[in-house]
Amino acid sequence: MSTKENISLLPYNTFGLDAKARLFIEYYSLDELRQVLKEHKGEQILHIGQGSNLLFTRDFNGIILHSGMARARFIDDETVEAQNGLRLDDLIAQLTDMAYCGMEKLSLIPGEVGASAVQNVGAYGVEAKDVIERVYTMDVETQEERVFSNEECKFGYRDSIFKHELKGKYIVTSVVYKVKPGEASKTREEIIQTRMAKLPTVGEVGSAGSFFMNPFIPEEQANELLKLYPDMPNFSSPQGVKIPAAWLIEQCGWKGKTLGGAQVWPKQPLVIVNANHATPEDIIALAAQVSASVKEKFNIDIHPEVNYI
Ligand SMILES: Cc1cc2nc3c(=O)[nH]c(=O)nc-3n(C[C@H](O)[C@H](O)[C@H](O)COP(=O)(O)OP(=O)(O)OC[C@H]3O[C@@H](n4cnc5c(N)ncnc54)[C@H](O)[C@@H]3O)c2cc1C
Repeated sequence: MSTKENISLLPYNTFGLDAKARLFIEYYSLDELRQVLKEHKGEQILHIGQGSNLLFTRDFNGIILHSGMARARFIDDETVEAQNGLRLDDLIAQLTDMAYCGMEKLSLIPGEVGASAVQNVGAYGVEAKDVIERVYTMDVETQEERVFSNEECKFGYRDSIFKHELKGKYIVTSVVYKVKPGEASKTREEIIQTRMAKLPTVGEVGSAGSFFMNPFIPEEQANELLKLYPDMPNFSSPQGVKIPAAWLIEQCGWKGKTLGGAQVWPKQPLVIVNANHATPEDIIALAAQVSASVKEKFNIDIHPEVNYI
């Protein structure tokens, strides 16, 4: 186990914000995790992965937990169990090299295995929920282990039970994914190229990926809007009509606009970047202005995907 006091979280969030944490603990086994949770019972705890979906709005006066467990193993020819601290893309790279497929469309999504289940990450029509079989967790309060079936995780669009009813109550310790033998290297390569052309590269430009989620609106509202904006992209779904937030933001003229050090990414307006030593206040203010203008022009609420801490 490694413990650091009063450290900067700069290396631990992809937005590149220099918040401080009172205590940062990295554990390397379930026993160590159990021990930490017992010792710090009742204290404010935030378990992070790669910090690629976090916006530290201020210093964190609690304990940041991170897993140093990063192994994966095949359970059988169709399932692989990966520990929470393994980078999702490293897992996909390894599987692709071994000629296993199923997860390649999630290539290059930043972040670790633990958060893939919390966030139900997705890209190019595939979501983590499509490939997750079950999720192993530890109860923060009792330190008991509990397995969640795919169904019990209540996955939704960038959503799971771990973001709502059970927020902060369980730590995902490993995830079992379904895979199958098959060649995926070409698709993986294409996805990597597409993503690199469009999205900021982690480590070069600070961001947390898509800042907002795509909104779903009632069919009547979509029909009214289509009269005014016949080119508006729209996708019917059981939740309503999905309108790409990137399109809405672009229509409001935000592409490339800056506020302080924060900027709406010119190549993909769904992303807010730390273009020039942005403060949390710059990012928060820019996001608020973007969503207010979308509300004013289209009467649509867009909500952050990013976790404000
Ligand atoms: C450039 C870029 C592109 C991106 N593209 C995509 C994309 O295409 N699709 C997509 O879905 N997302 C995308 N994202 C967002 C991000 O990659 C995902 O949200 C990812 O799952 C975050 O993983 P993480 O390990 O960094 O988690 P963090 O950001 O550290 O944490 C996210 C949340 O999960 C919780 N958490 C983390 N680990 C655990 C654990 N073990 N147990 C319990 N809770 C935990 C945290 O408390 C927090 O609430 C992108 C981000 C960036 C920067």
